[in-house]
Amino acid sequence: CGVFGVIGVADAANFVALGLHALQHRGQEAGGIVVYDPDHGFNSARRFGYVRDNFTKADVMDTLPGELAIGHVRYSTAGSKGATAIRDVQPFFGEFSMGGAAIAHNGNLTNAAALRRELIERGSIFQSSSDSECIIHLMARSIQKTIPERIKDALRRVEGAFSVVAMTRTKLIGVRDPLGVRPLVLGKVGDHGYALSSETCGLDIIGAEFLREIEPGEMVVIEGGKVESFRPFSPAKSRFCIFEHVYFSRPDSILGGRSVYETRRQIGVELAREAPVEADLVCPVPDSGTPAAIGYAAESGIPFGLGITRNQYMGRTFIEPTEQIRNMGVRLKLNVNRALIKGKRVILVDDSVVRGTTSRKIKDMILDAGAAEVHFRIASPPTAWPCFYGVDTPERSKLLAATMSEDEMRDWIGVDSLKFISLDGLYRAAGEAGGRDDANPRYCDACFSGDYPVAPSDKIEEGFQM
Ligand code: 5GP
Ligand code: SF4
Ligand code: MG
Repeated sequence: CGVFGVIGVADAANFVALGLHALQHRGQEAGGIVVYDPDHGFNSARRFGYVRDNFTKADVMDTLPGELAIGHVRYSTAGSKGATAIRDVQPFFGEFSMGGAAIAHNGNLTNAAALRRELIERGSIFQSSSDSECIIHLMARSIQKTIPERIKDALRRVEGAFSVVAMTRTKLIGVRDPLGVRPLVLGKVGDHGYALSSETCGLDIIGAEFLREIEPGEMVVIEGGKVESFRPFSPAKSRFCIFEHVYFSRPDSILGGRSVYETRRQIGVELAREAPVEADLVCPVPDSGTPAAIGYAAESGIPFGLGITRNQYMGRTFIEPTEQIRNMGVRLKLNVNRALIKGKRVILVDDSVVRGTTSRKIKDMILDAGAAEVHFRIASPPTAWPCFYGVDTPERSKLLAATMSEDEMRDWIGVDSLKFISLDGLYRAAGEAGGRDDANPRYCDACFSGDYPVAPSDKIEEGFQM
C-alpha cells in the first residue's frame, strides 16, 4: 500500500491526491482521503479504482476542504481481496473523547488475528476485515490523554510491519515500526507545510523538498510548523524490505539513501557476473525488469533491446488478486516485438518468479516470435517463502521455488537456462560490499531466505512452519 499526508497547505486534499497518484504502483485497488477543516470538521472519501479516476473530480474534491489531509492507496494483503468491500478501504477514522483521528497503514500486522479476537471479546465492534483496524480499537481502549499517546500505546501492542500516517484536528503524525520494514519519508512543502509519503516520488510530484526518512522506530508529530520526534519502542536493528529495492518501489525513489534505479541496475551487473551466457539480445520484461536488464547488458556487452512492449494502460498483473484475471493479465499487458526477436538468442530479465505463470507465458510468446534460444535471468533470489509484512506473495505451496529445484523450474518454465541472483549478489547491489552478513543482515529478505525478522504469530497459530 501507499500512504501520504500533508499539513499546512491550502486544499490539502489536492496535494494528497497527487501524492497518492505518484504512489499508485503501491496499490491500485482503491484509495481514500480524510481531511479536517475547522468549519467543516472531518470529511472523507473512499473509492475503488485509480486515484486519477476518483480524486480529480470536483464532486469529490469539493467535499474535502482543509489544510490537513491524509490518504491511502490499497493493495490487499489482508482482509477482503480486490474491489469487494469499501469498508476495507483506508484511512480508518475513530472518534475519541479528545476528538477524532484518522490513520492510514502500509504493511501487515502479524498478530492482528489474535488482537482482533481479544478486542471483539472485550466489546470492540469491527467495521472491516482489515488488520489495520485493530490500531483504531487499541487506541479506543487506551487510557492515555492525547491521541499521539494513544497511537503509541496501540502500536506498542501490534507486531509486524507498519508505516503509519495519522491525523488529528491539528496534527499530522508519522510512525515506522522498529524494524522499518516499509518506507516513509518526510518533506517540506512551501514555507509552513510538511508532507509524509511512502516514497520520495510522492514528494517530487508536489514539489516538496525531501528532508529525511522517518527512522525505524520513530514517531513524528507535526503541528504549527514544528516537527517533534519520539522513540516509542524498544530499539531494534533495522530490517528494511529488500524487495522494495527489487520491485515494489518506483525506480525514481530514494530509499535508505540509495537510488532504487541504481540498485536495480547494479543487480543486473551482478547477475551478468554470476550467470553469464552467450546470446544476441538482452531484453527486459517490462517494466519491473528494465533497470536490471540495462545493467546486465552493460556488464555483458550484449546489446539491449525492447523485445517486449507493455500496454501502458494495464496495471500490475500480480496485483489483480484473482487467479483468472492474473492468467489473462500477462497477455493483456505484454506483447512481443517479433521483428526484433526472430532468430535471436534472447536473455530475458525479470524481477522475480513467484508462481511462474508470468515467466511461462512470456517464454511462449518469445518462442512463438521465432527466438532461437530463451534464457531467463531473475533479479531476485528464488521466492521460496511467503511475505507476512505487506507484499502479497501466495502460500508456500503455490510458490514455484518452494516446490522445485532451479533445474526443475527451468524445465517447468521451458527455457534453455534459468538463473537467479544470489542473496549475496543482491546485497552487494543494495550497497553491502561484503554481501549478506548472516549474523546481522541489514535487510528483511524472508521471502528469499525464510529468515523472518518478526515471527508471524497468527500464521504460526494457523500451522505455518518456519
Ligand atoms: P508470477 O507470474 O511468477 O507469479 O509473478 C511474477 C511476476 O509478478 C513478476 O513479473 C513481477 O514483476 C510481478 N509482481 C508483481 N507484484 C509482485 C509482488 O508483490 N511480488 C512478487 N514477487 N512479484 C510481483
Ligand atoms: Fe520484503 Fe520479502 Fe521481507 Fe516481505 S518477506 S518484507 S517482501 S523482503
Ligand atoms: Mg513484472
